[in-house]
This record gives sequence, structure tokens and C-alpha cells, in this order.
Amino acid sequence: MASALSVHAPPRHLTDSAAGVAFVGGAFCPISEARLSLLDWGFLRNDATHDVVTTWHGTFFRLDDHIARFERSVAGLRMTMLYRAEEVREILLSLVRLTGLRDAYVQMIMTRGRPPIGSRDPRQAENQFFAHAIPYVWIAPPEKQEQGLNIAISRIQRIPEESVNPVYKNFSWMDLQQALLEAYDRGAETVVLPDRDGNLTEGPGFNIFAVKGGTVTTPARGVLEGITRKTVFELCAETNVRWALGAVPAAALGGMDEVFISSSAGGIMPITRLEGRPIGDGLPGPLTRRLTKLYWQKREAGWHGTPVDYFD
Ligand code: PLP
Repeated sequence: MASALSVHAPPRHLTDSAAGVAFVGGAFCPISEARLSLLDWGFLRNDATHDVVTTWHGTFFRLDDHIARFERSVAGLRMTMLYRAEEVREILLSLVRLTGLRDAYVQMIMTRGRPPIGSRDPRQAENQFFAHAIPYVWIAPPEKQEQGLNIAISRIQRIPEESVNPVYKNFSWMDLQQALLEAYDRGAETVVLPDRDGNLTEGPGFNIFAVKGGTVTTPARGVLEGITRKTVFELCAETNVRWALGAVPAAALGGMDEVFISSSAGGIMPITRLEGRPIGDGLPGPLTRRLTKLYWQKREAGWHGTPVDYFD
């Protein structure tokens, strides 16, 4: 394994660092200079895995959980970690420190890399590690969360887990991207994809939760096991809310009391309309509001937190 500590030591300053900083080929650079080989199979074959972790008010949330999931994805897709977990941790902390950003979106990526010219054997490829930190990204910013999102149920099915295992976080997003375009055409703001049995899976960058009779249910299968999803389970347990893993039929979504989504890109966010029709009373529900408030309160209080040691 390469050592992050022996590679180019992080500089103290980079130009335009608040726009973002990347770690490429063992060195830190401004995000505008980060480059990937055209021949990398991460690009040519979509053969890559990644993870996204965030900071809020200068503190990482569940950093070690994200790195552990990244390690499981890398192993599950038969790639090789280039750095040990504590080195990845150091790289990510350095990236955010360099940007100076308090609220950051931080991504670690492993691509298959490229084999010798002429080879089509993935075992011969040299895996590549990339990471970057940019300003925090929201699926729905706080002002949008006041009304909640209008969601569509896509006619496109999510890639089955037997084909691409969603537990290993990946960029096989063609279904999600096409579904999002379809949703925009239909006047919705986001989208959730069903599986072949007509049960909901997940959407572009989020897990989904349906609330009925006080119980919160989220799809058990065919989804990424989101770290925010796990956080929702913990918040439910803490506040004596019943939660379950189970099938959520697409046909039942409109009749739920409340619906919300979870993602590192925005936390817990209300869905208030299904293709324009109100879900419940069409406003963010009381349970969703309670969980969202608790999520941010606890994050701001340092729950599961790793503070960044900034230069200033
Ligand atoms: N599902 C998909 C397809 C995702 O890409 C993501 C996050 O990017 C999620 C779910 C939510 O996962 P997490 O809460 O770990 O951000």
C-alpha cells in the first residue's frame, strides 16, 4: 500500500481552494486541475466505486462509517485499497482543511484504472484512488424543504441487485439519470425507481421512507444501505418511533401519512407530493419534521463527529 504520509505533504495553501480541492495521483491540487485518464475504466467501463461523506460546521459526520463502507465496496468489487483506512481519513481531513470549507461534500473514489494497452483483463488494471472536497451539496436546500419535494415514480426499473449490487456504492446511474429526466418532463422535482415486482427501491442519491400509522418503513432490498438511513433508524429508536425494513409497494406511496428521503446530501428531507397530488395534507409531516430537526441538532452538537483542524 502507498502511504499517504509519504506522498506529497499537503500544502498549506492552494489557489481558489474554497471552490474545492482534490487528491489525485498521490498529490493535492485545486479542483479545477483534477484530471482522470481517458483510458481509465472508471470512465470507459463505469468500473468504479465511491463514497460520500460530509462536514457540517467544520465537523465530519460518521467519517469512519463512510470509510468502512468504502472499504467494503472496494473489496466487494474486487479492487485493492491503495491506502489504509487511517490514511484515507488523513487525506479527507487534509482536503477539507485545505478548502477551509465548514460545510463540505467529500467524495472518495476508486476506479479500476487501466490495464496494459491491448489487455481486456480487469485483473491487470492498476486501481486508482481519487478524492475531493467541494462546497456542501443539497438534494433539497432548506428553503425547498419548507414545502417538501414533488416526487414521481419512474417507469424505469432500478438495475436489479442481482446485476449490480447496490450495497457497493457505484456510478451505475444510467437508470437514475434517465428516470430523473423523465420526472422533470412530468413536472416532478425528483424520482424514485421501482423494482420488477413494483416495490420501491431508491432514487438518485437517496433512500426513501414511508410513514403509515406511526411506523416508518424503508425498502429492505435493492438499495444502498445509506449511512443516513442507518442514522434514521437510530433517531427512531431514540424517540420511540417504530421502524421496519420491508417492501414499500409503489402503488401505496400516494396513500401514506408521510414520506421522506435520506441522503448525506441534505440529511432527512420531506416528500409532500406524488406527481402533483398531496401526500397526507401536502405539507411536511410532524414525524419528518421531528426527525429532521433532531438530525441537525445532533450533528451540530458533534454527534458521530470528527472535527477538522483548520489552519485558521
Ligand atoms: N442511494 C443511492 C443510490 C445513493 O447514491 C445514496 C447516496 O449518495 C444514498 C442512497 C444515500 O446514502 P447515504 O445516506 O449514505 O448518503
